[in-house]
Amino acid sequence: MIKLTPAIASDICMNQCRAGCCRGPIVLELTPEEVAPFQDQALRLGADLQIGRSPQGGGWVRFADYPGERCPMLDGKTFACRIYRDRPQRCRDFPQRPVPGCAISGWASGMDNK
Ligand code: SF4
Ligand code: SF4
Repeated sequence: MIKLTPAIASDICMNQCRAGCCRGPIVLELTPEEVAPFQDQALRLGADLQIGRSPQGGGWVRFADYPGERCPMLDGKTFACRIYRDRPQRCRDFPQRPVPGCAISGWASGMDNK
């Protein structure tokens, strides 16, 4: 993974990519410990949240269920995460490998992604 300053990474994510990993046909998985805090954050922000629950107690948020097909925590104008400092672990871990279209992951056009 390439090394970027936080400011440069934010510029790429918000202004160039427009939060590609927070939009589209994606399902965000939450650990059992993250479900209640995520619900609290949504309540605080006035976001209409629908969390699916797994038998193990975790949760999932399907972006297709929301206007604009995006995470309910995403600011649709600035493309900033509204809970960035407290975002779920899945969001902190991404990207773990080169992902097509994601400059943050080190992916570049023409790269062999096999
Ligand atoms: S991490 Fe990658 S896919 Fe996600 S917003 Fe940033 S550049 Fe886009
Ligand atoms: S919680 Fe934040 S970083 Fe995670 S998908 Fe939603 S907007 Fe993106």
